[in-house]
Amino acid sequence: MSQYEAVIGLEVHAQLKTKSKLFCSCPTTFGEPPNQNTCPVCAAMPGALPVVNKKAVEYATKMAIAVNCKINKNSVFARKNYFYPDLPKGYQISQYEEPLAVDGYVDIRTDEGTKRVRIVRIHMEDDAGKSIHIPGENKTLIDLNRTGVPLIEIVSAPDINSPEEAVLYLKELRSILVYLDICDGNMQEGSFRCDANVSIRPKGEKTLGTRTELKNMNSFRHVQKALEYEIRRQIDLVEDGEKVIQETRLYDESKGITRSMRGKEEAHDYRYFPDPDLVVVMISDNDLDNWKKEIPELPSEKLDRFVEEYGLSKIEADLIVSDKYLADYFEEVVKLYKNPKEVYNWFQTDLLRELNEKKLSPKDIPLSPENFAGLLKLVKDGKISLKIAKDIYPEIFIENLNPGKYIEEKGLVQISDDSELEKIVDEVLSENPKEVEAYKKGKKKLMSFFMGQVMRKTRGKANPKVVSELFAKKLNN
Ligand code: ADP
Ligand code: MG
Ligand code: ZN
Repeated sequence: MSQYEAVIGLEVHAQLKTKSKLFCSCPTTFGEPPNQNTCPVCAAMPGALPVVNKKAVEYATKMAIAVNCKINKNSVFARKNYFYPDLPKGYQISQYEEPLAVDGYVDIRTDEGTKRVRIVRIHMEDDAGKSIHIPGENKTLIDLNRTGVPLIEIVSAPDINSPEEAVLYLKELRSILVYLDICDGNMQEGSFRCDANVSIRPKGEKTLGTRTELKNMNSFRHVQKALEYEIRRQIDLVEDGEKVIQETRLYDESKGITRSMRGKEEAHDYRYFPDPDLVVVMISDNDLDNWKKEIPELPSEKLDRFVEEYGLSKIEADLIVSDKYLADYFEEVVKLYKNPKEVYNWFQTDLLRELNEKKLSPKDIPLSPENFAGLLKLVKDGKISLKIAKDIYPEIFIENLNPGKYIEEKGLVQISDDSELEKIVDEVLSENPKEVEAYKKGKKKLMSFFMGQVMRKTRGKANPKVVSELFAKKLNN
């Protein structure tokens, strides 16, 4: 491996969250009955004319601004000709020679530091429909609901050098799209998808090797696995004195391998030409200024602010800001409980564990910030022990319970009362004379044993600070 370097360039397709399609007013809602969201434009009836959706141009431009692209004031839609049963026009409408935006970049944070990945271009295009093959029957049905849904394609330069970097880059892009509120970023539903081009070359070599293009990966993990497999495969080939051939390969998730789908011989000649039905997309200075103003704080900016304002480390801030909803939620909790480090610790352990176990995304956190902060306050005020807070968190979380009421009802309020605890401490001491002897002779470790006894008797409700003070007083006499 070490002799070779991987070179990766990614082509990302992101579905824009507009209400209507790119060239007609049909809705873009997912999961409708087949062919419900269609019209003569979607079905490519002769004479039907496409009209560009301004909202889609706005969203695409916002992404271009967010990733530091140069925006072309004029861009042109072209016809990309090919036959596919779910493409009734016989061509896709895409931007080719004059795309919306070029020459941008995003910075990713790798273990070795910040790395810049250049973006070659961002263009708009329409999505195709879906072919639904009926298992067992020799039949394919066509659903045109997705036809014409607006996409942007984001093409990176071949600046990525490992599967890990590829995933970091994809996560950053997706995060930016979600922050901009222009794409839902759902990889399973296909609203965020990627093709990966990959080649290898001897380390230090400047020219690019022959690449393959990988398709059919619908999670970050698949991207990682597919690239790992493919890089290994290419290195093995070259080490065996063979050559990598340029081809498209499909990732097979069940086997974790990539398989040849089509070779270069079958590469398409799309015969692109400007679509005569559409006018040039012109972006006015006024629109551009307004859209620039509407760009919210982006993940990398939020990260810097979280480090500055909340005193988190970069790694900690990264974990929180990687998801917009998690970041918003964090800020709401911190507003109510002003100890960001402590809140972070709860996020990193308990909150993320619950999200994971309950298969929820941060967008759907059931626990209100008030109840979250309330629980932390109870610990801080000595009403319950940290241990009990951790124990009851899962239930509080999923049911969004008021923690104050909950601990009253369940009788979990911590015992801090000196005289009550003193009785229990005395009990423990008289029940364990041998340990007391040993302790006095220097076996200080036994303190945790004594504490444990008190906790057992109080079912974890004893205030540990008060108890250890009591023991100290009694045993050191
Ligand atoms: P195409 O016209 O076939 O789409 P492009 O030149 O536009 O080809 O490149 C598509 C993607 O492939 C880009 O992301 C680019 O960075 C990447 N790419 C091109 N050549 C290589 C290579 N030799 N190795 C890895 N990635 C590459
Ligand atoms: Mg391409
Ligand atoms: Zn339509």
